Amino acid sequence: AQSQLLQSEKMASIGQLAAGVAHEINNPIGFVSSNLGSLRGYIEPLFALLTLLKKAPAAALPEDVREELVRVDAAIDLDYVQEDLPQLLHESEDGLARVKKIVQDLKDFSRVDHADWQDADLNAGLDSTLNVVMNEVKYKAEVRKHYGQLPPVRCIAAQLNQVFMNLIVNAAHAIAERGTITLTTSATEEGWVCITVADTGSGMTEEVKRRIFEPFFTTKPVGKGTGLGLSLSFSIVQKHGGRIEVETEPGRGTCFRVWIPVSPPAGQAA
Ligand code: ADP
Ligand code: MG
Repeated sequence: AQSQLLQSEKMASIGQLAAGVAHEINNPIGFVSSNLGSLRGYIEPLFALLTLLKKAPAAALPEDVREELVRVDAAIDLDYVQEDLPQLLHESEDGLARVKKIVQDLKDFSRVDHADWQDADLNAGLDSTLNVVMNEVKYKAEVRKHYGQLPPVRCIAAQLNQVFMNLIVNAAHAIAERGTITLTTSATEEGWVCITVADTGSGMTEEVKRRIFEPFFTTKPVGKGTGLGLSLSFSIVQKHGGRIEVETEPGRGTCFRVWIPVSPPAGQAA
């Protein structure tokens, strides 16, 4: 039953959701983007023409054109639009670029194009995870990065990103007012990569620390925590032949250390 729960948690994991959302949003973004480009192409010359007409001596214009020009000017105030239009277009294009960036971040994070075992750069995995959670994290913590040189790691990158996300979000949750989250990576000569996520948050008592990997164990209020993040992370790391270590001190903070072998144990990864 436990592994089934973990499985359904995986199915509902942010990674899956992110991949789905990124996929669904991609098409509409594509046509909004190209339509916006076309609209800019239509509107700008038309508007230039209108302003030119408005500047022309009234006598030079046929009666019906003059009347129509007055009507249009009354309806949309050409002088105002002339100032406003570049700003409107710029803001729309800017907003769209931000949406595109978010979708790209989600794609990188969920590695939709690489659902299976692959040789991955875990520093890049940490960065794409940070891109996704940064909005939530930046109000709580300054994030410091000390990345070492890492060899490519044979892993299911989307799942390791999920682990990194759980650890980073937990770290942010543990910080009450303002603190620091430090991400460190290093490699050993024996073929291991170590990723640490350290925070200056609340820390844990011995009693809490003993139970954190239990499914549904949470100290967070209902609705805030499911208690599944670390148990899922544990099973993902285990599947990679790795391990998770925790050092914590109440009032000082916590350091999670994830060890992953560069090549998983025989028979584990295709
Ligand atoms: P959730 O975040 O939904 O509570 P997790 O499995 O991610 O579930 O974490 C379980 C519990 O472990 C948390 O409720 C919290 O008490 C403790 N915990 C995890 N990470 C930290 C941390 N960085 N600092 C302090 N406590 C933590
Ligand atoms: Mg959590």
